[in-house]
Amino acid sequence: ADISLIRNFSIIAHIDHGKSTLADRLIQTTGGLTAREMSEQVLDNMDIEKERGITIKAQTVRLDYPAKDGKRYILNLMDTPGHVDFAYEVSRSLAACEGALLVVDAAQGVEAQTLANVYQSIEHDHVIVPVINKVDLPAAEPERVKKQIEDVIGLSTDNAVLTSAKSGIGIEDLLEAIVTEIPAPKGNPDAPLKCMLVDSWYDPYLGVVILVRVIDGILKKGQQITMMAAGTTHLVDRVGCFRPKIEVLDALGPGEIGFITAQIKEVAQTNVGDTITDARRPTAEALPGFKTVQPVVFCGLFPIDAADFEKLRDSLGKLRLNDASFSFETESSAALGFGFRCGFLGLLHLEIIQERLTREYDLDLITTAPSVVYEIHMRDGTIKELHNPADMPDPSSIEFMEEPWIEATIFVPDEYLGSLLKLCQDRRGIQKNLTYVGGRAQITYELPLNEVVFDFYDRLKSISRGYASFDYHQIGHREGDLVKMSIMVNAEPVDALSMIVHRGAAEARGRHMCERMKDLIPRHLFKIPIQAAIGGKVIARETIAAMRKDVTAKCYGGDASRKRKLLDKQKEGKKRMRQYGNVDIPQEAFIAALRMG
Ligand code: GDP
Ligand code: MG
Repeated sequence: ADISLIRNFSIIAHIDHGKSTLADRLIQTTGGLTAREMSEQVLDNMDIEKERGITIKAQTVRLDYPAKDGKRYILNLMDTPGHVDFAYEVSRSLAACEGALLVVDAAQGVEAQTLANVYQSIEHDHVIVPVINKVDLPAAEPERVKKQIEDVIGLSTDNAVLTSAKSGIGIEDLLEAIVTEIPAPKGNPDAPLKCMLVDSWYDPYLGVVILVRVIDGILKKGQQITMMAAGTTHLVDRVGCFRPKIEVLDALGPGEIGFITAQIKEVAQTNVGDTITDARRPTAEALPGFKTVQPVVFCGLFPIDAADFEKLRDSLGKLRLNDASFSFETESSAALGFGFRCGFLGLLHLEIIQERLTREYDLDLITTAPSVVYEIHMRDGTIKELHNPADMPDPSSIEFMEEPWIEATIFVPDEYLGSLLKLCQDRRGIQKNLTYVGGRAQITYELPLNEVVFDFYDRLKSISRGYASFDYHQIGHREGDLVKMSIMVNAEPVDALSMIVHRGAAEARGRHMCERMKDLIPRHLFKIPIQAAIGGKVIARETIAAMRKDVTAKCYGGDASRKRKLLDKQKEGKKRMRQYGNVDIPQEAFIAALRMG
């Protein structure tokens, strides 16, 4: 393809501002799909993405656009995920583009979640085309929103396009703006092959599919390629692009985005950010590459029914085929039996995997308290990595412990600033910076990751009514006064609920956990004490009073079928319970107990 006719761009937006609808509309307008095929949103293809309205995996589509200048352009549209857990996916899609469409809802205006993505886009030297979407709405105020974009982001809106992705207004203008505003990529077709591995996923028909951006040279079928970081060599057996349907091509040249297959069995064999080159005529220098993503949040996943263990292993394996960013290994627990210790990029990532296991694989699971990775400096001079509170060594053998810290950047409208500062303060945050940009505060905090993994993001969203945006990166480990807190139900420790906490926060958290568990565990025929303890010392305590449990008691008279129904229901309820000694704990209790506030 003629490189001067290629345009590579991503779409960035706050959630619900119309990114997916706009992408679909661009695909439809340029003839990628018929109206009937458009009935489902194309770019969000997982159920969970649809329900939560978030894009998890970046998708790319090639569009043909005959522009007003009489030339046919190739537009490569990359969708990007919108959540902080997946910041690395945003970063790598942006790295493959020269420009971005910044979609802002004409009625809502600039919202916080957009900002982190915009700044990332600016960091990649993108040309940004502001798109004021939903102009069909009666509440639309495009001029006000333009001004806001200029004030808050500092971005000129001279080239802004007004659209309605829903009714099709402004789509032609937008396509023209993409062609005229966003620069063509640069690259040398005669240089040795150099491609960026942007993404990879497992397809049941094609095997591992690799999304590439060609920088220099030509990528062809039949070529021997080397993945420079991995040091592996493969034979390319298919080259193509998505329109969004698969189209097989002869080759991909500089500036092009497309896919290859090379008989690779597992996604884990491909490293996102790796440089792909010609095995026989390699490029001298690899691309800077991406940082490898390491799981930062760990938890145990246990089947409620021990017989599901193999099924769980199998399902985790299948999910991992498409998501090399989570890890799992077998774990056994005194109370929960056999399960897996899993690592995730963040809490949302954890929830997504857990939800997919439940929904798509029909597994009933118990999730243990999420934990970060601690570094334990032992008295004997060795250093241990702790992924699981259950493995905490005897405190007397520990010299000191270190925990991971992050630097968080938060954008929040003025009116929520007070509550936000309090939240950060409560979570042991250290304020580094506070500035104002057009009615918004931009705050930088250093926080222990352990205070963030529980529910920081949920709290942030709820105190700011969804208007705060949050982005973070790790800044290394720091010493902390950390202790293991156990929760005991009827005098038995529930290892799924034990956690590492800061000594100063232990009592409050312990009390909170006991109160929660008291509400979550149904009454039994006997009295149940619930205690939080550090070492042997009880720091909080609640008691669940005894009750005579007779579900059929309410059924006066002899309605046998109703009685049976109730009993069945109770049996069903039992299945979702976990027995601790002789206490039944409902599955939801494990997760609910961990949420603060
Ligand atoms: P995303 O989260 O940014 O991908 O947003 P979606 O594309 O999923 O859109 C969010 C909601 O806004 C959906 O209900 C869309 O139908 C609606 N929407 C998108 N674009 C427009 C538009 O131009 N006008 C109106 N009225 N609604 C729109
Ligand atoms: Mg979407």
